[in-house]
Amino acid sequence: MKAKEMVIISGKGGTGKTTITSSFAYWLHKKGKGFVIADADVDAADMHILLEPEIKREEEFIGKSVAEIDDSLCTYCDICRQLCRFDAISIAEDVYQIDPVKCDGCTLCEIACPVNAIVMVPQIVGKWAISNTKFGLMVHAKLNPGAENSGNLVTMVKHQAHLLSEREEIPYIIVDGPPGIGCPVISSISGATFVAVVAEPSFSAIHDMERAIETAAHFRVPHGIIMNKAGLNKENEKQVREYADKRGIPFLGEVPFDRCVVDALVKKEVAASACSSVAENLGHVFSKIIEVVDGS
Ligand code: SF4
Ligand code: SF4
Repeated sequence: MKAKEMVIISGKGGTGKTTITSSFAYWLHKKGKGFVIADADVDAADMHILLEPEIKREEEFIGKSVAEIDDSLCTYCDICRQLCRFDAISIAEDVYQIDPVKCDGCTLCEIACPVNAIVMVPQIVGKWAISNTKFGLMVHAKLNPGAENSGNLVTMVKHQAHLLSEREEIPYIIVDGPPGIGCPVISSISGATFVAVVAEPSFSAIHDMERAIETAAHFRVPHGIIMNKAGLNKENEKQVREYADKRGIPFLGEVPFDRCVVDALVKKEVAASACSSVAENLGHVFSKIIEVVDGS
């Protein structure tokens, strides 16, 4: 049976998404439920800091292909440079060069070169790994600095998490999604059973939360809202609740702001294990999510 996939996202970074996902892992582990953790925040992966994974398998991730010129074959006809719409090809000291950052991988120059001097070379843009952690198996990844294709790497992380869950008959996958609403977020929520959007009670975070909700709604993935850092601004919290009510979006609960959570993160501890003040609220939130996905 396909594992139920629960994705935690937020409209912007810093709302406590990883704090909540790692606490979810702790809670499921305490409840004796089987799950795979997938860290899909591949541009800024940080779940490993809290869960200290021990890598069992590591693979390179191949991204787009980039054109390369074999100068020994080149006849300096200039056709490729004139055709490239991305200005990736230049000539310096009588040698044609391709800027791998500018090259879009469109292959036009490879096709057009009359002497087959251009080949497309796949680029290693990151790594993904399967690890053991104190709470269970984790799939995680890291994109090389400046590399693109994070959406594809997110898809790979989720794909590997599903393969693992099928092989080991694990019923749940929890995904720490990327922040924002871009391509990696769309990849992270694609095919998910449920998306929990983490909000915090600041003006900009509410706006970002609304955009994240709209993204989940657009892709017709069932979703709900978790209010993190509650107690910092009652007026904004009321606004989030009213938004949820008006749109008929389940309000999954709130997690009070507590200095203990900050101290726990500094000590690389999971909030739900270190702070009894927030553990109870988080437990209610996670129970609701499991109730929804088990009933779906
Ligand atoms: S099209 Fe081929 S032969 Fe012509 S300049 Fe480019 S690489 Fe050289
Ligand atoms: S593959 Fe496309 S983008 Fe890259 S250098 Fe060739 S023509 Fe330009």
